[in-house]
Amino acid sequence: MKTPEERYSAEISRRLETGDDLEFSLAQLAKAVDASPDDEALAVFLDQLVKTGTATRLTAQRCPVGGCGRVLGSDDTPFSVCPYCHTDYQQEGLEVLIEDFYRLKGETSRDIRWMIVVHGMNSRAAWQEEFSWQIANRLRYSAPVLIYKYGWATIDVLVRPVHRHLAKQMGARIRIAIKHATTSRRPSRPDIIAHSFGTLLLSLILEDPDFDDLRFGRIITAGSIIRPNFDWNRHIARNRIEAVLNHVGAKDSAVPLAQYAIPGAGPGGKVGYAATGVFNVCNDSFGHSDFFEPENLRLLIAEGGLWHSFLTHPLARFLPAGSFVLERSWKPGPLMIRGVSRVVGYMLFVLIAPVSWARRCLDP
Ligand SMILES: [Zn+2]
Repeated sequence: MKTPEERYSAEISRRLETGDDLEFSLAQLAKAVDASPDDEALAVFLDQLVKTGTATRLTAQRCPVGGCGRVLGSDDTPFSVCPYCHTDYQQEGLEVLIEDFYRLKGETSRDIRWMIVVHGMNSRAAWQEEFSWQIANRLRYSAPVLIYKYGWATIDVLVRPVHRHLAKQMGARIRIAIKHATTSRRPSRPDIIAHSFGTLLLSLILEDPDFDDLRFGRIITAGSIIRPNFDWNRHIARNRIEAVLNHVGAKDSAVPLAQYAIPGAGPGGKVGYAATGVFNVCNDSFGHSDFFEPENLRLLIAEGGLWHSFLTHPLARFLPAGSFVLERSWKPGPLMIRGVSRVVGYMLFVLIAPVSWARRCLDP
């Protein structure tokens, strides 16, 4: 059984973690913790918060009109008319209410305003529809989701110049999307969710000076084939990206092979990223594509789910279950093996490319 003080502090911690309801009156907090507004222990608890610097106390004027009740301001300027419901207090014989307010010292939560999703190879799967549907239904507001399709990549992944070409196309498309977003008064930085081969394309865009103008919000990589030593910190320091969550599937068997089959790739989605500014989080039961299974996706995007929390909460207190740091520095696999597989890859590409090209003409 929890003591009242423990319940009060649990509520305060929750607010600081989610960044929601950081400002409240004693009565509002009392309601939230099932206490009476006259509860002395609660008043003492709030005094303590102020003394320890967790919260500041301010006096606020509030509109006394029943349907309005809004906070008018925290300074001493007297209000004779409500700026919201336009009630003239003197005329109506009303007095402005003076209330103590508390403000917790913490970052506020952020909204997901719009998002770009970059899938892996060949996923024409049902999850794309599921994803848009879930995002549209789970959020408190509408956030457009652009699902970036780079076509039907197969042997293309074997050859580096083709990656660059695909990354250039994607960068150009993102630039257009950002332009559309800003003209419709959305923020210029999309949040990104990238999976598998899509993560590699994203890393190429970040490294390409042609796309220095593109800035991103929070980035989630799932089943990443980006190398563990990718310099995320540089991009965070240059304010090109806000934060990165690397979601690792402990049972991912595709990611460790990527460096042998795909030039420039690495096992970031298994080993983790070395950059200190990144959140590495491991799910013990996920394989390479389990993130996007409808029932998993639903949980990840739901309020309190890992992805939703990462995208909306202040990150100073973000420490989800499964968090880990990369302990040993990562080195690419033996050069010999990578070299041989690269040559085989190029040969396959040369042999199969004409067939693939022909098929693409028929099935774009
Ligand atoms: Zn009013």
